[in-house]
Amino acid sequence: MHLSDHSLSQLDETYVQALDETRLRGLSLRLLEDLKEARERLRQNPTNSSRPPSSRAPWERPPVGDEEPSDDVDVEASLPAQDRDAPDAASAPPDEPSHPPETPAPEHAASKPEKPKRKPGKQPGAPGFGRTQVFKAHETIIHRPETCAACAEALPADAPSVCYAGFQSVDLPWGDAEQPGLHLRITDHRFHDTLCGCGHHTRARPGEGRVDDPALEPVALSEWRLVGPGLATLIVALHLRFRMSYRRIAEFLHDWLGLSLSVGTLDRTLRETGAAVSPLEQELITSVVASHLLHADETSWPQGAELLWLWVFTSATTTLFVVAKRGREVLDRLLPGFAGWLMSDGWQAYRHFPQRLRCWAHLTRKAQGLIDSFDREAQAFGHHVQTTFDTLIGAIHAARDGPPVDLPIRHAVLLNELHAACVRLLGHRHAKTRALAVELWNDWDAIFRVLENPQWPLTNNDAERALRHWVIARRIMMGTRCEAGSRTFTLLASVIDTCRQRGHVPWPYLVGVIAERRAGRAAAPLPAPMPGL
Ligand SMILES: [Zn+2]
Repeated sequence: MHLSDHSLSQLDETYVQALDETRLRGLSLRLLEDLKEARERLRQNPTNSSRPPSSRAPWERPPVGDEEPSDDVDVEASLPAQDRDAPDAASAPPDEPSHPPETPAPEHAASKPEKPKRKPGKQPGAPGFGRTQVFKAHETIIHRPETCAACAEALPADAPSVCYAGFQSVDLPWGDAEQPGLHLRITDHRFHDTLCGCGHHTRARPGEGRVDDPALEPVALSEWRLVGPGLATLIVALHLRFRMSYRRIAEFLHDWLGLSLSVGTLDRTLRETGAAVSPLEQELITSVVASHLLHADETSWPQGAELLWLWVFTSATTTLFVVAKRGREVLDRLLPGFAGWLMSDGWQAYRHFPQRLRCWAHLTRKAQGLIDSFDREAQAFGHHVQTTFDTLIGAIHAARDGPPVDLPIRHAVLLNELHAACVRLLGHRHAKTRALAVELWNDWDAIFRVLENPQWPLTNNDAERALRHWVIARRIMMGTRCEAGSRTFTLLASVIDTCRQRGHVPWPYLVGVIAERRAGRAAAPLPAPMPGL
């Protein structure tokens, strides 16, 4: 949008009549573009609610006292379980900067008629507890509009200008080898209203980013934030990489950096960062789909009352996490056109991929289970499977370093004997013996395909290793509470692990993504793998 409400409210017949033709044409074109954009938004959603009211920037909000869902309710809904009972979580005021001056003062609410129903949490118009901390700023940045929003003329530096809104931000500049350490930097941002020669007042506005992922709403990307991109990244790192609960992070920031942030603000920061990286998901999917060899695995993941699955897809250079139901749909959705080799366990949903590899570690564990049983025939079959795999593993390792060799031909007798044993035991009375025989017989081609190319992996360790960190995190986070929470978590986990896998520290990259997206620009692509990886 070219023209803010503030600009539009100044445009009237007198102003338009006074413009010369060039300026009038320029204004008409900007109005036309705004009208088209507004119409498109109306058509997409008749109630114009594609952006939830709580995602509106403070200076866009209706006068105090109007219906306005409390931010805190939305935020609380996505808190991790261990933070839910925090006494201050539901009622804590957001640590966001106070409203700009144009928002009517809280006193106005008192003169309005009483509302019949009271919503839980902070009442609209109630005097906010606000941020109790007032910081001494290291610097003040004046934001002035460069051009007139109506006539598009450049605004001279000496044009009459007055501050109409402002906020403080706290950020964390990066330490380096010369100046190591954590220190916070406070900036006062002042936004100016500047008068053009044409008589129009134009206001500088903080940047805003678009969130196109409906699963992440309500969340807004904005430069109007207490928590700057560097501090936001520290919060993400402490929560997801160092597996600290929000309460622990609040304690750390308070005790070590002298900064008091509520659990609600920490959660909002994490969700905003998730929204900042969400456009990168397509890049991750494209990379995974294009890979020649992909490891897939899944583990249970609680989301609210639902038991879902945390899926991982990891190639040589990319790791993608998704929380979804356990079914074929997620594979169809994420891996359309995947033409590489898929390493997985023997679960049904993977079976329709034509080029599959199976993890031998799973199978030898099952063979060991038979060896440890009390059934003689089961023990014998267990030993048979185990020794066959041991021989083949030795042959594969030898073939990796040695001259090319046709392993399926060389070990045909061994394979035929095992196949015959499986066929014989398909209806065996001992359940686990029968199960392993059926599994080997059923998935024979996928299991022994690795013999055709000994460079392929024998286990699904890469996927299991990628999941391990998050399995521990699951205990601390107790899963996620809602779809938005799961999306935020998996998007950030994918970006963090992919950066690390490519040999990069993820945090400076994440700082850049947050800053660009808050300013309304696109996120930079994920860093390319370091040479030699
Ligand atoms: Zn002007």
